Amino acid sequence: LGRWARALAILKEMEEKCGAPTGKLKQIADAMTVEMHAGLASEGGSKLKMIISYVDNLPTGDEKGLFYALDLGGTNFRVLRVLLGGKEGGVVKQEFEEVSIPPHLMTGSSHELFDYIAAALAKFVSTESEGLHVSPDRQRELGFTFSFPVRQTSISSGNLIKWTKGFSIEDTVGEDVVGELTKAMERIGLDMRVAALVNDTIGTLAGGRYYDQDVIAAVILGTGTNAAYVERAHAIPKWQGLLPQSGEMVINMEWGNFRSSHLPITEFDQALDVESLNPGEQIFEKLISGMYLGEVVRRVLCRMAEEAAFFGDTVPPKLKIPFILRTPDMSAMHHDTSPDLRVVGKKLKDILEISSTSLKMRKVIVELCDIVATRGARLSAAGIVGILKKLGRDTVKDGEKHKSVIALDGGLFEHYTKFRTCMESTLKELLGEDVSETVIIEHSNDGSGIGAALLAASHSQYL
Ligand code: ADP
Ligand code: MG
Repeated sequence: LGRWARALAILKEMEEKCGAPTGKLKQIADAMTVEMHAGLASEGGSKLKMIISYVDNLPTGDEKGLFYALDLGGTNFRVLRVLLGGKEGGVVKQEFEEVSIPPHLMTGSSHELFDYIAAALAKFVSTESEGLHVSPDRQRELGFTFSFPVRQTSISSGNLIKWTKGFSIEDTVGEDVVGELTKAMERIGLDMRVAALVNDTIGTLAGGRYYDQDVIAAVILGTGTNAAYVERAHAIPKWQGLLPQSGEMVINMEWGNFRSSHLPITEFDQALDVESLNPGEQIFEKLISGMYLGEVVRRVLCRMAEEAAFFGDTVPPKLKIPFILRTPDMSAMHHDTSPDLRVVGKKLKDILEISSTSLKMRKVIVELCDIVATRGARLSAAGIVGILKKLGRDTVKDGEKHKSVIALDGGLFEHYTKFRTCMESTLKELLGEDVSETVIIEHSNDGSGIGAALLAASHSQYL
């Protein structure tokens, strides 16, 4: 085979191996439902942890007062201040600040990371303005959105199970992250009580429910991916405590760790996994989320360069650097509508220092982005169908159409248009026309921060 034919063969094989036709997706949705049952039945019963969140009441709209939230998810963290107006009052005012986490803190010590977070929070607190401060006789209260797998022990405590998404700090694993944050706040003299510990899915679900009572689940598609939903308390066999009065309990699925023999996994994914910080874990996440999509594309391009001299006689050195091709750049190439694929050419030049590429080559690269993004989008749709099946909302009963609203958030969902539209159309394809009309995907813009503040309000010590 000539060079070009070899490159095309690699692309073709990738396309076949990534294929997720309807039938396969239905098997994956079924497998998701089965694993959900198993994870709810017993602790450790499934790859899906199905974590009991201790959130048995979602926001009603009556929440009132000034609350803080802190959202630690991936590379950025945000601090928020929200003034809630109580009945009919809605969110009166909100202020936030975004702070990036220096990479060395992601793999350093627990102490350093939480000190950094507490310091940023203290700095934000010091900017409280007129009309936006807590009365002097009250302690400030915080909703802490911490988007890593945590074994909750109460609404306001929980031990870190493991880090994901590029974080790796050994001494935090097993510790109560609220304790870690509280100690760091004490060290700098910040008087604040953590009233609720949630992750971004729970926060998004709470934030979504505040505005729309039909919200039943939340899905995050950002640096990582995860989902949470409202389960009937009696359908959680592993729950030992008293049944909550509401009869409901929010479950944090930690679906990023889902895996199934039906998943379309290529040798590129296997290599990515083996060389990752968490080999063997978060397999669903590694096929879907923003941290990994660009890296999968890079790996395939690297193979094309090595085995088909796709970029000429030598392999461009930059192409060998893991994670150099980020998902936002992949997305920009994928969305390039210029006739000569100018954006693709520029990205290759700026990021990979590949100076001359033909239009034919650029088209191959766009095609590759499409293959990888389409697989991720279709798999996330299958995951959502798994949740709907678990809740019996994947069919229309007796012509009765109750709405199922799913709150979505995360940078991938928000910015990667082709990913989002593919996910939405796949959902229709899987559910059929009738059911599709009852399932609504709602973008909950930064609902996770507001949601955490709302949950802090409903778990305030002053109620
Ligand atoms: P986190 O998941 O860390 O809380 P976000 O929800 O903001 O943060 O998601 C950030 C992720 O979204 C990035 O890691 C990136 O993978 C993805 N992302 C951001 N912008 C884009 C974009 N323009 N196109 C595709 N993906 C994007
Ligand atoms: Mg986030």
